[in-house]
Order: sequence, then C-alpha cells, then structure tokens
Amino acid sequence: MPHVPTVEELVDKVNSHLPTRDGAVIRRAYEVAEQAHRGVMRDDGTPYICHCLATADILADLGLDPDTVAAGLLHDTIEDTPLKLEEIQAQFGDEIAHMVDGVTKLTRMGAQSRDDAQNESLRKMFVAMAEDVRVVLIKLADRLHNMRTLGAKAGEAQERKAKETMDIYAPLANRLGIGQIKWELEDLSFRYLDPKKYYEIREQLAVRRVEREKWVADVIETLREQIAEEGIQAQISGRPKHIYSIYRKMQRKDVPMEQIYDLHAVRVLVNDEHECYAVLGIVHKLWTMIPGEFDDYISRPKGNNYRSLHTAIIGPGGRPVEVQIRTFKMHEEAEYGVAAHWRYKEGGRADPKQDQKIAWLRQLLDWRKDVEGAAAYVDALKSDVLGDKVYVFTPKGKIIELPIGSTPIDFAYHIHTEVGDHCRGAMVNGKLVSLNYQLHTGDRVEIRTAKQGGPSRDWLNENLGYVKSARAREKIRNYFRRLERDQNIRAGREMLEKELKRLGLDKISYESIAKEFKYDRLEDLLAAIGDGTLTVSQIATRMSETTKEKPEEIVLPPPSSPAKLQQAGATIDGLGNLWTRAARCCNPVPGEEVVGFVTAGRGVTLHRPDCPQLGRMDPDRLVRALWPRDDTQMIQVAMQVVAMDRPGLVRDIADVVAKEKVNMTSVRTDTNRRGRTAQITAVLEVSGIAQFSRILDKVRQVPNVLEAQRV
Ligand code: MN
Repeated sequence: MPHVPTVEELVDKVNSHLPTRDGAVIRRAYEVAEQAHRGVMRDDGTPYICHCLATADILADLGLDPDTVAAGLLHDTIEDTPLKLEEIQAQFGDEIAHMVDGVTKLTRMGAQSRDDAQNESLRKMFVAMAEDVRVVLIKLADRLHNMRTLGAKAGEAQERKAKETMDIYAPLANRLGIGQIKWELEDLSFRYLDPKKYYEIREQLAVRRVEREKWVADVIETLREQIAEEGIQAQISGRPKHIYSIYRKMQRKDVPMEQIYDLHAVRVLVNDEHECYAVLGIVHKLWTMIPGEFDDYISRPKGNNYRSLHTAIIGPGGRPVEVQIRTFKMHEEAEYGVAAHWRYKEGGRADPKQDQKIAWLRQLLDWRKDVEGAAAYVDALKSDVLGDKVYVFTPKGKIIELPIGSTPIDFAYHIHTEVGDHCRGAMVNGKLVSLNYQLHTGDRVEIRTAKQGGPSRDWLNENLGYVKSARAREKIRNYFRRLERDQNIRAGREMLEKELKRLGLDKISYESIAKEFKYDRLEDLLAAIGDGTLTVSQIATRMSETTKEKPEEIVLPPPSSPAKLQQAGATIDGLGNLWTRAARCCNPVPGEEVVGFVTAGRGVTLHRPDCPQLGRMDPDRLVRALWPRDDTQMIQVAMQVVAMDRPGLVRDIADVVAKEKVNMTSVRTDTNRRGRTAQITAVLEVSGIAQFSRILDKVRQVPNVLEAQRV
C-alpha cells in the first residue's frame, strides 16, 4: 500500500518549492473535500479522501502550483458528491473551479462504454486539454493512483482500465514529456494486461540483481574518477530499466531476455551542453562503443522535446551497458515535461515561450475544422499526436513532423490540402519514389503536382499503404464527399462489384450488405463507398464473418448414416470457417477421427465415430469432419493471377505471400506463349478474408500483374 500523506505533509511538500509559506488554499480544499466524501469508502476499504490526497500528492511531486494541488484534492467532488460547481467557484474562484469542471468531464468519459460516446468524450477531453493542460495533469495523477490501487477492482474492470491506460494515458504522458508518469503507467498496465510476461521479467531481473548492481557500481566509480579528473562536476547514478521497456525491446529485437544487455542504464547529469559531449568523449575513450546504439537527442530532440545523449558500451568483463548523458535542466524537462513550466511558480501562469513547445496542443483545436466525427478525431489523435514520429525536410530545409509510416501523400497533405489533392509524384533525396514509399527521418521530400484532377480512391485502400496520417485520410474523404452524389454512387458500385468478385463473394446481395451496415437505401451504401466513408475491405471482412456465423446456410455433403460416412469422404474442411467444438459426451481429441454434427446456430460439434449419442441424431445433419489444423483455424483459398510473363514473376508473387507469413500449399503456372501471358494458380492458407483481400491488393501491385482474384 503506497503511503498516503496527511494534509500538512502535502502543504510542506508544496511549500518546499515556494518562497512563501502559505498552505491556506490547500487546507481549505482538503476540508471541503473531506467533508464531501465523508463516510464513503473505496474498493480497497480506505476512506475516499485518501484517493484525493494521493492524487494531490502526485501533483505536488511534479512540483505544481498550490491551485492545481487544491484542484487535485477537489477533483471528484462534483462527480461523486452533492457539491455543486457554483459552490466551488464561490469558495475557490474561477481558475480552480475550471480545473475541477474539466476533470469532471473527463471522468464522465470513462464511465461510458459505447464507443461513439467514448470517442465524443475523448474529443472533448483533448479540446479541454488544449485550453488548460493542468486539467490533464490532474487526470493523469488521478489515473496513476487508480492504477496503483487497481488490485482492489474486479478482473474485468482491471483489464479495461489497463487497456485504456496503455492506449491513451501512457502515450499522453509521453507526449507531454512526463517520463516518470509514463513509465509507471506502462508498467502498471502491463502487469494487468500480460501478468505472465510481467512477472517473468520481474523475477529474472531479481535473480542476478546483486551481482549486476555491484558491476554497475564499478562502472560508475571508474567514470566518476575520470570525469573528476577533467574538472567536470557531475551527478552519476545507475538504475534498472523499466519492465515494460525491457519487454518492448525483446519484442522489437525478437530476442530472449538474456540477450537484452542494457537491463541497467547509467545516467550522468552535468551543468551544460559542452560537458555532455565532453563526458561522451570520456565514456568512449574508457570503453568500446557499440555501433548503432549512439543517439544524439540534443542536436535532434524527440517530438516530445526529450533531449539527451544515449550510447551503449562494452564495459568491464565484456558486459554491455547503456549510458545516458544530459544536463540537469534537460533531465528536469525529461522527468516533468510540460509540468516543468509550472514548477516553483505561484499563480500558475505559463510563460509564452514554453507554450510554443506545446504547439501541438493547439493543433488539436484546429483539427476540429479538418476532422469530421468523433471516431475519426480520436483516430487522428492516436496516430498523429500520440504515435511515434518521423522528421523529414521540405526542399527549403524546413522540418516536418509526421506519424511513423507516413508517405509522400501524407507529406503533401501536411503542406496544404491543395498540394495533397493534386499530388501526382514525389522525389525523395533527389530520386523518384512511388507514392506509398515510407518516409524515414532525414528524408528530403519534394512533391510533383498536376493542375488537373484530384486524389485517387486507391489512396483510401488501407491495404495499399498510401496514407498513414488520419488527417490526410480525412482530407481525401472530404474531397470525395464534395463530389456529385451520382458520381460517388457509380464509383461505389464499381468498387463493390469488383471486390466481391475478386474474393469470390459475389453471391452476397447488395441489399443484405446495405442492411448489415444499416443503410436504408442501396444508393446510400454505394455513395458511402464512393466517397470513402466505408471501404470495400471493411465490407468484405464483415460479410465473410456474418456468413460464417450461420453454418446451416452452407450446403453440406449429404451422407445419410454414420456407417456411410467413411466412404463418403465428405469433409467440412475447406467449407470455410465453420465453428467447430469437441462434444462433451465422448471428448474426442485433436488428430483422432471424428464425425461432425451440424447444430442449428453453433457450428459443428465433433464426436468420435463410436459415440453412442450419434445413433440418436438426425443422420442428415451428420458430416465427416476433419479437425481444424490448429486453434487459429486457417482456411484454404485458391488465388488466380493473370500477368504478362517475365522472369522472376512467380518468385515476386511468392515473396508478397511470404511477407504476409502465409503458406502457399501449391502453385501452378500456365503460359500462353503467343499472348505472352501467364496464369498462375496458387492455394493459400489464410487466417481470414481480410488477410486474403490484403494479399490480392499487394499481388496486384507486383509489376506485370494484370489481375488477381479468387477461383
Ligand atoms: Mn478520482
């Protein structure tokens, strides 16, 4: 149980940063909150006020001003007690009331479960944040304490909270540059999302801790002597890396934990930038540096303004270690982020220079004009603001920040909507590239535009990877929404026809699709496809799922009695994703011979051929069945590709398939010598129609391929 401070301890902590010793507003806020929550207990059995104190304590640790700490104490009063906003306003003034009101709105967001409502509230949240970032700092402190005490909640609530924290709050803390809160939120969420992995890593860390710590202490000692000899004042410390960051590294490098060398990092803090590079020189002189592990975030800061030098070296005994070097000021900014500029200040007014660093906050406000609908807004936020970034250059040398995975089209739309709409080609570092080329940090990008025409509907096809940023996607949709409705209906019909034919789903009626997606009229559905609101791959995925849920509609081979089954040779394998499960009466095991019984709505139940229950069942609904290959239930589909023949064609197609990690169980090539065309038929084992659709789109992009479809 983490320590909960008393109100006097809280006042002392806040005052320790400030020249004046006045805790009046904090004491008053405590009294009001304590009275309002009196008698209410939390899930862990502690009085509710403990949560308010703990939240305020986290804010005090961030060094925030007394008003914010007071608002932290009051943050749940409006939502959970009879206290009214007007009363808070009367007692504490506009500023504190505004913060409490903001946090209340964000809290209501979490209580809603429907996606649309949640997205709408999220949108409100980010708009509120743009107005006063302290609202979000209080929310982060609130969430951090809730995560620390999450053990008292029910299992289902734990998982939901943990997921929301990992998806929204940890990236948000990261974007706001508050390293210490980001790490703790990630580790706490990870513990509930993947407890097995979490405890595995934690235990392994504990095993050799003493030995490792001694070794790190040796490195620090050597470094301390050398740095002192150069006359540099430095503070050096060693710390174990966070569990989630170790896990991420294992995932990224695809290696077991034994091969993660930097389980510990050594951190050197110095007074100025010159000394950072001087210390770096000392480190590299003492030990051998590991190539590819050096990062200079001082000359090129990260998107959240993180600045530091990172390097990794082979230390004594051949053991590698990570070393981080930065100034005290950079360190404070890395730990406290935007909170840093309210630190040690009374009144809580930010200086305008600092505000520019969080210009992206105001970008959130601008987006209300570009991005239509709450879901799209939240998507935009997740990919464009909270996600990882690449930094590229305009021809004039201006730096543009884009979400990782962005293409020249994203770049073009970032420059201007007109440039995006008329984009026809791109040069990267002086070379012509395709429009779905993925940009890298440092690329210099030049866009070629045409006077006529607009974007292509292909750009909205997610399988083709033309667009990464939600903002560009939304601008392309806006373009098509402005077109004539007839034009969109025509285009939509064409696209749908083609996609269903390609996937061999052409027996599905358009009316049933319109019904499934809740469009009253077929034209509305087609117009939505034409203007990009709905994509054909969304339709294909959903329609193949709905057919899967109704196995009784599929025509099954008609063996008449269990005895005949064996000769009939009918299998349910290959019919598609029928849902199968082992019968409880005879419990057949995978690999064993089985007979399937087609149930009315629950797929196929598998029995052993000698199960006495079989005799009592309707023989017309018995089929010979094969076990699904494994629990992932792969389905087999045949793909036919028509192409102008050329050397290496089949290999290129096989490469595309292999990249999707899909098995190709057979390939046949027929060449028409006179027409110089080749027809390639391949059987693929795919996880579902969505994956198949993606493969078809990618095969279609292989040079010389004319068409790819299901047979
Ligand atoms: Mn709370």
